[in-house]
Amino acid sequence: MCLVLDKLEPQKSIDTELICFSIKSIVSMGHYKMGIFVQKYGGSSLATPELIKAVAQRIVERKRRGDKLVIVVSAMGDTTDELISLAQRITSNPPKRELDMLLTVGERISASLLSMAINSLGEEAISFTGSQTGIITDERHTEARILEVRPERVKEELARGKIVIVAGFQGVSTEREITTLGRGGSDTTAVALALALGTKDCEIYTDVDGVFTADPRIVPEAHKLDEILYEEMLELSSMGAGVLHPRSVEMAAKNDIVLHVCSSFNQKKGTIVKRGTVEKPVLRGITFDKQIAMLALKDVPRSPESLSQIVTQMAEEGIHVKLFCHGAAREETVDLIFIVEETDFEGALKILRKASRNLGAKRLLTGMDVGSVSIVGLGIGRDTEILAKMFKILAGLRLHIQAVSTSESKITCVIKKKAVEEAVRTLHREFGL
Ligand code: ASP
Ligand code: MG
Repeated sequence: MCLVLDKLEPQKSIDTELICFSIKSIVSMGHYKMGIFVQKYGGSSLATPELIKAVAQRIVERKRRGDKLVIVVSAMGDTTDELISLAQRITSNPPKRELDMLLTVGERISASLLSMAINSLGEEAISFTGSQTGIITDERHTEARILEVRPERVKEELARGKIVIVAGFQGVSTEREITTLGRGGSDTTAVALALALGTKDCEIYTDVDGVFTADPRIVPEAHKLDEILYEEMLELSSMGAGVLHPRSVEMAAKNDIVLHVCSSFNQKKGTIVKRGTVEKPVLRGITFDKQIAMLALKDVPRSPESLSQIVTQMAEEGIHVKLFCHGAAREETVDLIFIVEETDFEGALKILRKASRNLGAKRLLTGMDVGSVSIVGLGIGRDTEILAKMFKILAGLRLHIQAVSTSESKITCVIKKKAVEEAVRTLHREFGL
């Protein structure tokens, strides 16, 4: 069945849900042998030749226990950042297509080196690019979405007894161009492969022992969680925690793939990310983001289209609105507040300047001097006691809250950037995490 899929011409508008469904049904038809495991190793776990050899050793030991292994790798250490700055030294605005050509090299380096290391330990391995792996994406260079995975070559090599090493973070578009999945995207490669290969688990190896209640570099008392629910993990990673790519969590949640986040440096039990419910909302973790900017249109005369126009333009420019607050206390005017990533500030400013003139807004305020703190836990967004306590703690620090946003599983407050770390530490302590 998959061979047939391979012969299909790439289609432009493939429905991801449908594909997931078809992959699932193929799996349930029993065409797959059990015992396949997908592991992903992050850049810091592969930062030097010595570390690559150490990872190879772990993989070989696991293979000798009888498992079939697919290994997804990130670029070594800071390679991706270095490649970006290399491009910046050529031009401040490199074409995204060429940026993708450049950045995908990072993962190819680690994939080939890891394969060499495994081969030299006496086990057979083969490395693949995203395109050889059959990762088909849309055409959005630098932020591509996976549409479909056709892992025929992976399965063939597994059947030959080889360990398959996949360069993460990349794919090939329906127009046969090389694409990348956005920063941190190797996690998403791993989850997509787990799904395509019909495994129910995906192991993510990193340089920390798992998911913590807060960033231990900021909060020394932070502790590792044994488990966390998909919704909570998604909020933590969307609001700043770098440990998992948000889209990998989203894909895992939709398809019930259990994520095991562990250290590549020791054998400790890590954190399991899975589906679940809670009886009573509990706070699970705290995260923050200092790489944000705030733009506010004040006193915008009410009109039904204004908001949709602005948001559509932002979407067209690829600007991701992280938080949006809409204040409509007055009858004739509204205030619109947008929080975007720092790197999107200029783009968002251009759109809002124009909108401000067209809509007749009284003022356009901007602030780069802001950061967000988010508390996360399933159901806490509905719990006014928790909300009140958060406000009280921040008020105790004499902090002026510039915007608030709540969802089912998180409460986010925007405050001044300088105060963010102190706020995270105080919230962690006062909430007794
Ligand atoms: N190497 C890429 C990055 O640094 C992708 C990844 O590590 O997941 O963003
Ligand atoms: Mg990462």
